[in-house]
Amino acid sequence: MPHVVKKIITIKYNHNIIINRIIIIKYGKIMINQQIYSTIKGKGLDNLDRALFSDSHCHLYMSDNPKKTLSEAKECKVGLLIDTAVDFESSRKVVELELDHKSVLKVIGISPEAALYDCENIDKLQQLLEKNVIGIGEIGLDSKIIDRVPIDKQRFCFEKQLDIAVKQNIPVVIHSRGMLKSVESILFEKGVKSAMFHFFEGNEDDAKRIEKNGYLISIPPLESSRFKRVIAAVDLESIVCETDFPAVGKTPCDVIKTIENIAKIKNKDITSIGDSITETIKDYFGV
Ligand SMILES: [Zn+2]
Repeated sequence: MPHVVKKIITIKYNHNIIINRIIIIKYGKIMINQQIYSTIKGKGLDNLDRALFSDSHCHLYMSDNPKKTLSEAKECKVGLLIDTAVDFESSRKVVELELDHKSVLKVIGISPEAALYDCENIDKLQQLLEKNVIGIGEIGLDSKIIDRVPIDKQRFCFEKQLDIAVKQNIPVVIHSRGMLKSVESILFEKGVKSAMFHFFEGNEDDAKRIEKNGYLISIPPLESSRFKRVIAAVDLESIVCETDFPAVGKTPCDVIKTIENIAKIKNKDITSIGDSITETIKDYFGV
């Protein structure tokens, strides 16, 4: 009996991702030394030599090890991610983080929460806009924090950033909680042509209206009958998927579960849904 035996075992992991783990059995102990996301629900996607899925909204800069998080994302075919800031400090982090520019798109901005302390940094934010920054976000209005951040302050900060986006002709990424109608009317007043509604909060009628205005609806990795109705109500071309990693998703790979749900609702295979969403993001953000 040799002391060291190499063996490949297959473990079913969450979200139907199957991991082939190469294990080494050494002196009777199992040591996992490699982990490969290889097959997604037996679709043979392990043979695909290209990125297929995209995460339209995550906070990669918050990872303890962004490089590792990105390489794990690529192993499960999530090859396009939008790293989104929430205040001036994180905007600087997002811009400074040196990762594969083709895979990681950057969005910087001052969120409603940060409106409390960062509004005066909006002018400095403009200096961070460079070629890899493809949008301003996450920006918007949040009714849940009004006791801490007065709505006038949130609105001032939001509008100032919309002015920059319109002037620079770049899309915005919207954070709206309990404020959808107000956010929409401000976008209309300011003449904003491109907006992605992160963690979409509306129902199917809201979704249809958003779609009619040419905006994008971003679906988080949560299953609910509301999201199902929203997905069914609008064209695939108006939908993108996000994990909001690390706040909601544990990894950018979590976007795949949502893509599977969309595939079921739209009666298509996950490859074509993945391709379509990736193309939508590239078109919309001009990359
Ligand atoms: Zn977020």
